Amino acid sequence: MMRTVRFHGRGGQGAKTASRILGTAAFIEGFVAQDSPVYGAERRGAPVAAFTRIDSGPIKQRGVIACPDLVVIADASLIQDPAARVLDGVNERTAVFVNSPLTAEQLQAQTPLLGRLTTLDLTTIALQQCGKGGAISALVGAVAGRLVGLRRDSVREAIARELADLGLAATQIERNQAVAIQCYDTVRTVPVAPGAPQPTASARLQVPTYESPTRGTARISAAANSILRETSGWRTFRPVLVPDKCNGCWLCFAYCPDGVISMAKDDRPVIDYAHCKGCQICVHECPTEALVAEREKEGTVAWKAK
Ligand code: SF4
Ligand code: SF4
Repeated sequence: MMRTVRFHGRGGQGAKTASRILGTAAFIEGFVAQDSPVYGAERRGAPVAAFTRIDSGPIKQRGVIACPDLVVIADASLIQDPAARVLDGVNERTAVFVNSPLTAEQLQAQTPLLGRLTTLDLTTIALQQCGKGGAISALVGAVAGRLVGLRRDSVREAIARELADLGLAATQIERNQAVAIQCYDTVRTVPVAPGAPQPTASARLQVPTYESPTRGTARISAAANSILRETSGWRTFRPVLVPDKCNGCWLCFAYCPDGVISMAKDDRPVIDYAHCKGCQICVHECPTEALVAEREKEGTVAWKAK
């Protein structure tokens, strides 16, 4: 019977890689696997989703998974973002994994969720075991593999193949494998019942009409409204200035893709935290390490404009 898994994360967290690791691990075990991601219009930090189907025979379904057997949430702040729709199609029989420092019971008390819930703090594990910049994609993939019942060796091999495709060095791959398998062994399992019924399409197929470029080009009818969309909720790490290290070079100002850094009269950056999405580009580009990434602390569901 088909197993269906939907991953939710933020751009840069590796939800797509995690779904590929799961699909490859299933493929290694002789299953047919299908995985695909969906991105929004935004870049790093924006909600993204990825989908993996696993079956013993040909998979004819395509597209998004409306009612998954397992939902994997790589960033708990997405639960509070209605646009991310992480709980769509979740019911009492759905298994749900959340990357969170809270236990399933603590998270349920904070944000009541349907489904069979399990948690593990993958972000802290990645920081402790892989250091600054440690990615969680392999960890998320390993946890998903464990929850759907794939073997440890298949998951380990899938991590090696997928991370090699991304160009990681052998030492980095081995480190990721070791930490991911630690997560595989640690996560508390919950039953994943395959074969969740999928809704059938009720809409009739529409034939699009061609329009000339002068009519068909997208148009912004309400301009200059991005200030209304606070993207601070996307952030899992915030850039923080260490003033003594700043040489006033303005590079962070130039590199910020969202224009949320302004420069004060003393040539020090001022960050608009209501709109900083936490992409960390400024942290990486600062030549003097005057910007450091600090993990958001207000629980797992951090709304962090301040
Ligand atoms: S890039 Fe770093 S050193 Fe340059 S202005 Fe920004 S914080 Fe200061
Ligand atoms: S301030 Fe830094 S972390 Fe925030 S959006 Fe700009 S570049 Fe990204």
